[in-house]
Amino acid sequence: MDKIRQKKAFICDMDGVLYHGNDLLPGVHEFIAWLKANDKKYLFLTNSSERSPRELSQKLRRLGVDIDEKHFYTSALATAAFLASQRPGGSAYVIGEAGLIQALYEVGFSMNNIDPDYVVIGETRTYSFEKIEKAVVLVRRGAKLIGTNPDLTGPTEQGIVPATGALVAPIELTTGCRAYFVGKPNPLMMRHALKVLGCVREDTVIIGDRMDTDIIAGIESEIETVLVLSGVTSRADLKHFGYAPSHVLTGVGEIPAP
Ligand SMILES: [Mg+2]
Repeated sequence: MDKIRQKKAFICDMDGVLYHGNDLLPGVHEFIAWLKANDKKYLFLTNSSERSPRELSQKLRRLGVDIDEKHFYTSALATAAFLASQRPGGSAYVIGEAGLIQALYEVGFSMNNIDPDYVVIGETRTYSFEKIEKAVVLVRRGAKLIGTNPDLTGPTEQGIVPATGALVAPIELTTGCRAYFVGKPNPLMMRHALKVLGCVREDTVIIGDRMDTDIIAGIESEIETVLVLSGVTSRADLKHFGYAPSHVLTGVGEIPAP
């Protein structure tokens, strides 16, 4: 545990680590107070590209936790950073929400539904046949197909809903083109997060509740990993994976020194 506490920077998944739906998990207040009191660097990471950092900060505030928007990093921001490095000043046809469109504008991209460099898909609640059809036409004309994150489903109050991976599938199947996905488990997302934190991987730890996204992304970027059992993974699940986290905790509440 001391090894975790001595780290300078914490990259932390959100759902299943800080909250479930609209319920804050036990020990989260104490963990965040501990991060602040000990001058730790921290970044809360989500694979969802739907919300902007400001909206995530507001969501946490509604749950009773005060975290500035600069401490949030989404797959939309990672996708925008990646595309800006590949094609500075490029253009995109986007099926997604404000969090993604805003991130692309901020890196100097423009929206284009005639001859874009990229077709970019993210989480959305306004998916339609017309949009799939448009995306298919543009990809067949040569636009590169990008998904913000490969998740097939996302958690909601009502149960699960289709996430980016499921929304990209019809376009992949129709065009025969495979999308490139930027979010976890792509280690690119972790490298970007380290850059945002201004920390080296040796000083950083990644905390998550999913083996196949959070923990594998940490392992493939050679960052020490903490699996918390407050989300989708139980201790019995660990035997099904060919890799193991560096540490296993019941939740982030265990981290602050008593
Ligand atoms: Mg999670």
